[in-house]
Amino acid sequence: MKINQKNEVVFLTFDQWEDRAKLVAVHSTRIGGVSENGFTSMNLGFARGDNQDRVHENYRRFSEGIEVPLEKLVLSDQWHHNEILEVEASHEGMGIFKTRNYHDVDGLFTTLKELPLVTFYADCVPIYFYDPVLEAIGMAHAGWRGTASQIVLDMLRLFQKKGSQIENIEVSIGPAVCQKCYQVDQKVIDAMDFNFAIDHIITYSEEEDRYYIDLKNINKEILVHAGVLKDKIEVTHHCTACEEELFFSHRRQGNHRGTQIGVMMIRE
Ligand SMILES: [Zn+2]
Repeated sequence: MKINQKNEVVFLTFDQWEDRAKLVAVHSTRIGGVSENGFTSMNLGFARGDNQDRVHENYRRFSEGIEVPLEKLVLSDQWHHNEILEVEASHEGMGIFKTRNYHDVDGLFTTLKELPLVTFYADCVPIYFYDPVLEAIGMAHAGWRGTASQIVLDMLRLFQKKGSQIENIEVSIGPAVCQKCYQVDQKVIDAMDFNFAIDHIITYSEEEDRYYIDLKNINKEILVHAGVLKDKIEVTHHCTACEEELFFSHRRQGNHRGTQIGVMMIRE
């Protein structure tokens, strides 16, 4: 990923999409906002106890920095399930200026131009999908539950239902907790029940009787086994828990923390 700065706002973009002039695919950092304390400073979550006016100001700065229309943002409503909303023009502004008419949505998809999609993160895995032939975008939020229940497959199915050929689909996996920072118990390992091996991205600590897993690369494995071409999948090394300067992290900060967003949009 590349670190960009516009005015005060620092945001990340993907290397594989550097030359895609019409595609917006960015991930926020905690730099460039007006929030304070655990929310310092670019907190983009409304539901975590931060001052709402500050969060609105952060959205204003962020959307200006990445050049997307603030009033049209469509925000997900994440509950660690596999629901994906097909976003239409009628959804513009929902979750920020208008009440959502959808709930329990961990993925967003659209083929419409100038319609920015927003999903939320603070250690979970942001997964960005783009089909340059169909001109479609999608974003999926995957914690361990969404990884185990393979929300990425639901997103691929939706792209294919809309006319995508699997070999055209490009996927980028953004900042999330790294393997070293992500200790889990047996219950999580048992849930990771796939028809291929992931032993190489799970380590077990006998001392702690706990496992360490690489959620970003487990999602990559699922995508590869579903037929997405390996050279069309980018996985960032950035870790939300390791990199305190750049990111909020639930593992590091607990409940008193801000929230990052992922944004995708196709320009006209
Ligand atoms: Zn880490």
